[in-house]
Amino acid sequence: MDFDDKVAIVSGASRGIGRAIALEFGSRGARVVVNYNQNSSAADEVVKTISESGGEAFTHQADVSVFEQADGLIKTAIEKYGDLHILVNNAGITRDGLIMTMSESDWDDVIQTNLKSTFNCCKAAIRHMLRRRYGRIINIASVSGIMGNPGQTNYSASKAGQIGFTRALAREVASRTITVNAIAPGFIQTDIWSTVPEDAQKSLMDIIPLGRVGQPEEIAKAAAFLASDDAAYITGHILTVDGGIAM
Ligand code: NAP
Repeated sequence: MDFDDKVAIVSGASRGIGRAIALEFGSRGARVVVNYNQNSSAADEVVKTISESGGEAFTHQADVSVFEQADGLIKTAIEKYGDLHILVNNAGITRDGLIMTMSESDWDDVIQTNLKSTFNCCKAAIRHMLRRRYGRIINIASVSGIMGNPGQTNYSASKAGQIGFTRALAREVASRTITVNAIAPGFIQTDIWSTVPEDAQKSLMDIIPLGRVGQPEEIAKAAAFLASDDAAYITGHILTVDGGIAM
């Protein structure tokens, strides 16, 4: 299998897109660290599914928006598996609202969870990757960070921040064979999508050229490609997987 000798950490892997990425990597032979924040039973299920199909994985609770906890996640993975090849920064939240009504804590929570966590995990992982002269970092951004989305100034800013971060870090570490890319999903059928009111879902569908929402597994396939040897010459790239919304 193509990820046979690889160790991968996926943040926010208990549900949704992170879960699908963890399962995809596990099915390709990677040893997977399934990070979660609150939902331990869902994270356990992910590990169970990977183990039942012959793979190897364990869960690690960490709020990756807190540097010490992100650092603990990376250290635990390296201690347990002796290496780290792939880091997927997927953990994310929304706290939507028009700016007139958005609270300061809604702004801070989203920036902290979506953007600061990306810095935290990358900072904690990069020394190891630089030393071993190999790494694949994949940041799960959003088309909201490219196009902007009304009611999501906090979220769009956090995702645009992840995109700038991806390109800057890609330039910093390219000489050590570390690639840093982002995926910008469109509307994907997860818990985040189910919080969108039904009438808003219908009008959002009208702007998707392919006429449907995406599935988490479709993001997982893109992540697996970017983590694979086939993508060795791709870095600093923002891959939209969005049914054509942002073209
Ligand atoms: P989801 O179903 O709500 O799952 C979010 C995951 O992130 C959960 O596993 C959750 O863990 C974890 N998480 C949240 N805060 C965390 C923290 N502080 N520390 C560690 N883990 C944390 O979300 P999703 O739709 O799969 O989204 C995943 C990523 O894709 C996010 O970055 C999101 O912005 C991005 N994205 C999603 C869509 C979409 O339409 N769904 C579109 C574009 C981009 P617990 O279960 O423990 O809470």
